[in-house]
Amino acid sequence: MKDKLSAIKNAIKRAENSEFYKVRFAGLDAAGIQTMQEFESLPFTGKEDLRMAYPLGLQAVPDEKIVRIHSSSGTTGTPVIIPYTQKDVNDWAIMFKRCYETAGVTSLDRIQITPGYGLWTAGIGFQAGCELLGAMAVPMGPGNTDRQIQMMIDMKSTVLCATSSYALLLAEEIEKRGVRGKIHLKKGVIGSERWGEKMRDRIARELGVELYDIYGLTEIYGPGISINCQKQDAMHIWDDYMYFEIIDTKTGKLLPQGEIGELVITTLEKEGAPLIRYRTHDLTRIIPGKCECGRDHPRIASIIGRSDDMVKVRGAMIYPARADEVLSAVNGVSSEYQIMIDHVNGVDVLTLFFETEQDEKTALEKIVRQEFKKKIGITPNAKAVGIGELPRSEKKSARLFDNRY
Ligand code: ZN
Repeated sequence: MKDKLSAIKNAIKRAENSEFYKVRFAGLDAAGIQTMQEFESLPFTGKEDLRMAYPLGLQAVPDEKIVRIHSSSGTTGTPVIIPYTQKDVNDWAIMFKRCYETAGVTSLDRIQITPGYGLWTAGIGFQAGCELLGAMAVPMGPGNTDRQIQMMIDMKSTVLCATSSYALLLAEEIEKRGVRGKIHLKKGVIGSERWGEKMRDRIARELGVELYDIYGLTEIYGPGISINCQKQDAMHIWDDYMYFEIIDTKTGKLLPQGEIGELVITTLEKEGAPLIRYRTHDLTRIIPGKCECGRDHPRIASIIGRSDDMVKVRGAMIYPARADEVLSAVNGVSSEYQIMIDHVNGVDVLTLFFETEQDEKTALEKIVRQEFKKKIGITPNAKAVGIGELPRSEKKSARLFDNRY
């Protein structure tokens, strides 16, 4: 751990050149920490802090070293601006290239990139990694589905980079037009949203591709800091560029390895805007042990939700992805569900509504109840309804209603 500690201390020293960390670490002697325990007692950095540093309060190097900025979406207020040096841009491309390689993409592939270009980090990250790999980029950006499919056919694209919802839309359009036989896709590199097993299976089946989850966030480079390998069940993380912690969302304390909690990231190499103990609000866990693929990079589970969506019911942690997990194991139910939590006669009651085409609902409810108990540890009230009876919503948080308080 000694090497890690000195890498972290160097990162803190660099961070302290920014206006933001000068104030945050004032009087703490943060760079003087001697143990990992001391590091774990340093204050977290949150998204709100980054907003308050708008526009360039995070910048930790002189102006002449900054080559680019990116910004996270400002839908909920002031945006966050992240300045990058040439080294930051290069490092990001190196990590992204590594992601493609982990997914088995080679310089012979043709990569159709549908995420947006611009202030947002997505498109340009996919592009830089592709060029460094030596593959051919087809830089489409989002939308214009007609042209998207035409280019996919004409350029014989072999890799599709997209959000899960856009990948699904393209799969449906390809099916509708009956051009599946003209599509050469082999792999999908899918980023930025949490998605259920059923949606994943549908995209894989309809496009006829292997799917890879790519993870990242604008505050920490962008997409490309983690991806799953051909073993599929977890994502490798690039721990030579970042230090990862999993904390208890409520107490902020480090969790034992393997437990689910919030991912916290410290950048080890970043110059433009180093971040120390940045709370991602993404829920995951460290997967212990070495991957069968032989890579030494540690692994985290696919992101299972946002810490803001997590609630505790009778000692069990509940978040929307857990319902996905239960329902995907049961035949005859759709991927639509809703969770209601109520307090009745002094007891918390969880009701899981799910959709099915079947007329015989009682037997199915029993299976879901048992599966839920087996996977999550508490027995829910399972209620089957017909297809289309639950409200459709773009927001995943609208699937969970906590009526207790
Ligand atoms: Zn692996």
